[in-house]
Amino acid sequence: MSNTPLQELICLMGQPVAGNPTQFMMERAFAASALDWRYLTFEISPDQLDDAMRGFRVMGFRGANFTLPHKVSVIPYLDELSQAAQLMGAVNCVVRSDDRLLGDNTDGKGFVQSLRKVTDPKEKNVVILGAGGASRAIAVELALSGVEKITVVNRTAQRGEELAELLNDKTDVQAEYQRWEDNFAIPEEADIVINATSIGLGDVEERVPIEVESLQSSMVVADVIFNPPMTWFLEQADKRSCTILDGLGMLVNQGVIAFKIWTGIDPDADVMRESLEEYLEI
Ligand code: NDP
Repeated sequence: MSNTPLQELICLMGQPVAGNPTQFMMERAFAASALDWRYLTFEISPDQLDDAMRGFRVMGFRGANFTLPHKVSVIPYLDELSQAAQLMGAVNCVVRSDDRLLGDNTDGKGFVQSLRKVTDPKEKNVVILGAGGASRAIAVELALSGVEKITVVNRTAQRGEELAELLNDKTDVQAEYQRWEDNFAIPEEADIVINATSIGLGDVEERVPIEVESLQSSMVVADVIFNPPMTWFLEQADKRSCTILDGLGMLVNQGVIAFKIWTGIDPDADVMRESLEEYLEI
């Protein structure tokens, strides 16, 4: 008897995973593409990852997403990494090819795909607020997309300096770190400004400490926060007639890219965005 699965299985491993919008979005996208695939979520603690990865191989899962706290610790279990995942040192998407596991990072790619709808990143001057996982993923992918300069603004010097150093050492971009004290004034020459911090998550009134008057209409202003998608930061930018990009676009696009990696086909991005809006009740 063959153990070939009737359905392909994708899983998400993280902690916690309850109420994950990605599962809802992916199941809708599989159905819209007439694929009898399933997207399952598993709550896996760090000390269970070893067993979970053995199970993943044995049970023949086609692919997976990884969220915190596994984005870095999953790497030793993989056979190959994309260039971006190697540079970031973090993986959020894995696909099985025969018995080899290939790791990639679709967060930054999702952001750049969203950005390309409003501007070409080539030779642009970027200011990125924050230096955590999301910032790292976006900054590396922007550097690989040919931006000219990235200023990393972060409250904690060590994280900010490490990211600027990584970008300078491993990519062609010119990067610098600036400490975030009081209200940060966005430099006039910035073309793209990104809030890649967790400020604004679940709180539409939470202020990102910047001098709002320094936002100019020529700037593209983006936020990684997807719930609520219209953050205080984006509202300020919108009032100043900047081009704005919400975090929902990034979330949809990282899913679009992962779907293509797993299935080889392009999903319906509109179905994915609508399903997220339904799930998040926005
Ligand atoms: P991390 O915890 O790795 O990083 C958080 C960052 O925010 C750090 O740079 C931290 O600074 C900064 N920060 C937090 N609070 C403040 C504050 N009050 N003032 C100044 N800086 C602050 O988180 P991630 O990078 O993984 O995630 C960040 C956000 O991105 C989350 O809200 C997540 O939901 C969202 N996200 C969205 C995605 C999408 O598809 N739209 C994809 C991935 C993430 P410091 O280093 O000083 O602590």
